[in-house]
Amino acid sequence: MKVLKFGGKSLANGKGIDTAIQIITDKAEKNEQIAVVLSARGNATDELLEILEKAANQEAYKTQLESFKNYQNQRDTSVDLSEEFQTLETIFQGVSLLADYSEKIQDKVVSQGEIIAAKLVTKLLKDKGVNAHFTDTRKLIKTDDVFGNARPIEAISRKNIINHFKSHNGNTVNIVTGFIASNQKNETTTLGRNGSNYTAALLANFLDAEELQNYTHVDGIFTANPELVSDAKKIAALSFNEANELATFGANILHAKTIVPLIEKNIPLRILNTFNKEDKGTIIAENAAEKGIKSISVLDNVALINLEGRGLLGKIGVDARIFKTLSEHDINVNVISQGSSERGIGLVIDRNQATKAVIALEREFEHDFYTKDVSKIAVEENVSVISIVGQDLSEFHKPYTALIKNQIVPVLFNNTVSGKNVSLVVKKTQLHKAVNVIHGQIFGISKKINIAVFGKGLVGGTLLNQIIHSKKDILDKNNIKLNVFAVADSKHVYLDKNGITDDWKTGFQTEKTAYTLAQIIDYAKANHLENLLAVDTTASKEFVHNYIHLVTNGFDLVSANKIANTVDYTFYEELRTQLKKHQKSYLYETNVGAGLPLIDTIKLLHKSGEKIKKIRGVFSGSLSYLFNTFSVEEIPFSTVLQQAENKGFTEPDAREDLSGNDVARKLLILARELDLKHELSDISIQNLLPNDLQHISLEAFKKKVTELDKTYQLIKANQQKNHVLRYVGDLSTETGILEVKLISVPQNSALGQIKGSDSIFEIYTEAYATQPLVIQGAGAGAAVTARGVFGDILRLTEKL
Ligand code: ASP
Ligand code: MG
Repeated sequence: MKVLKFGGKSLANGKGIDTAIQIITDKAEKNEQIAVVLSARGNATDELLEILEKAANQEAYKTQLESFKNYQNQRDTSVDLSEEFQTLETIFQGVSLLADYSEKIQDKVVSQGEIIAAKLVTKLLKDKGVNAHFTDTRKLIKTDDVFGNARPIEAISRKNIINHFKSHNGNTVNIVTGFIASNQKNETTTLGRNGSNYTAALLANFLDAEELQNYTHVDGIFTANPELVSDAKKIAALSFNEANELATFGANILHAKTIVPLIEKNIPLRILNTFNKEDKGTIIAENAAEKGIKSISVLDNVALINLEGRGLLGKIGVDARIFKTLSEHDINVNVISQGSSERGIGLVIDRNQATKAVIALEREFEHDFYTKDVSKIAVEENVSVISIVGQDLSEFHKPYTALIKNQIVPVLFNNTVSGKNVSLVVKKTQLHKAVNVIHGQIFGISKKINIAVFGKGLVGGTLLNQIIHSKKDILDKNNIKLNVFAVADSKHVYLDKNGITDDWKTGFQTEKTAYTLAQIIDYAKANHLENLLAVDTTASKEFVHNYIHLVTNGFDLVSANKIANTVDYTFYEELRTQLKKHQKSYLYETNVGAGLPLIDTIKLLHKSGEKIKKIRGVFSGSLSYLFNTFSVEEIPFSTVLQQAENKGFTEPDAREDLSGNDVARKLLILARELDLKHELSDISIQNLLPNDLQHISLEAFKKKVTELDKTYQLIKANQQKNHVLRYVGDLSTETGILEVKLISVPQNSALGQIKGSDSIFEIYTEAYATQPLVIQGAGAGAAVTARGVFGDILRLTEKL
């Protein structure tokens, strides 16, 4: 025999009731032995309670009662529900006159919901030729007198049920009212909210059923509530123990009361979806589960009570008084936390009991207020409890760190010693984000990185296309979802919380809005975006002023923009202090040598204690091209310069390259990497231009540019044999000298042999003393720079 249970939504008008009837009919036709337990249809119980409340408040309730009746009758108007409707009408009338009702009356009212459901289903099944039998549990399940939450008297109930099923056996399908029962005086009682699950479990136990199939409106138990976490996965199998942990936190199908009768007889519980018949659901059985299944559940309607005071230190009996007070007022405590210093104790209770709890505690501790032993009893209502079921403390640092990185600091947390269950109290506004962060972390299910890209020019645009193009690969290989939620230029932003796609350019054109940085930050907050990352591909001097603001608002940074690393050292340091304080990262590999892995290498050497003595190289792609070509070809300097301009290697005003400032900036960045606290002004820079060409208009400069030819022809001719010109940056930690200058080197040396617009970096260290570590390759260009930025993004996601 299998016991089937259908919940309220599964019995609602429309697809629910029709499918339920179909499922039962199919099984009956296949001669499966089944018993069916029903709860009230739709929201019947809640509606009846509302009407009752209205009647007691002497408010108008009749329209609502009529609509209740219409709904219950709608599926089949020929079913006779007059007795139930009459009972309800009579009671409501009486309650309205008396302006009061008892729990006994309440049970009598809500029980009509289950009776109506069972009567209707019996009738519909009979119409389909099933030998259905309306089975009223008020005659079978006997309880104590606690109306609203009655406890079954097992021996009598068991005997009654067994006898009933003996006399209604064979092809009879018993359609059993869930939730309701009666006491020894035959007065109607109920087994507590959601009690039909309990009825079904009891029935399964009494009848030694093979399985309890609980038909709901969800596919089963999930790793987290799918409404909160879009990545939540269904758990195929759970053990009773694990289910029990989940039960405490929300999943009412798994309420301990419901599971105990099943554990006792080792009866598997299958959770199925009436609305998705194909799905296999979740099975809960002894040893059913793979080890280490985890799930996240949430308690939402809670409040945190905080009791504080110096006098609590070492005082005996305080805890006992708190719990005694709360239990006297029927207040259940969900989570408690207390530091070893005993200065304070935090308790999580149901929100609707918060006021009652505070009043009771204030009364209890009144005297302690006078003696100043207790200084504060505060209540925080806007909190939620997240419980990670199956969370081993040895691994708890992972979700915890992920939360902190996302600026979610739990208000309180605790763990169960045996049950592998960690509970965190977080601010309600952070709940959504917190659940997603924890879920992504503990399930290793794709981690979502939410990116805002500032600058959509050559580098930014290329980067966006690279991201869109590689997105799927990265998700498959690295389990990382790159979600670009903002693309901004200096004035406008295009926002899409679900991530831009390959037509982002059109999107930007049609949907862009003017912005302030605060608006982008607010957008991320409002949409609960986690793992925030800001990418700066601008060359803007102003934008770097936003860095610290971004960091304090939870963004990591990736930048191709050199400015932040080359302005005064005070800012450089302050940015790093803030990064540290907020546990954020800032990567800028492309600041020097575009995509070449230079900064990372230097960092690594430096961190590992390897003493870097000297860094020397050709840092600038444009100057590299200029001298590589000029040194070996018989053409005037100005002609090569023009070629470089035509190829797009130089800045719009080539004098910016020729001034040596760009190389100096790069040298400064490398120096600061080695903890040398230099400023740009400390660098000796050889300007390739004579004074009189430096301060004239661009137009005038272009007219006079051939004046350079004679000078450079002479420099070239004055070299030793087989030597070439190179414009280098040179940093020596031994002499402390930082120079940017034009030098002559043997053609067959490392610096001498580079071609095209390549960059080269020679790193001399203790270990690499005579033969330097050399990093060489394309050191400029939008594609390699964008690739380098992308590399930083991926490096950063690994840290998350
Ligand atoms: N109808 C009752 C309730 O809503 C019992 C149940 O649904 O299980 O609480
Ligand atoms: Mg229900």
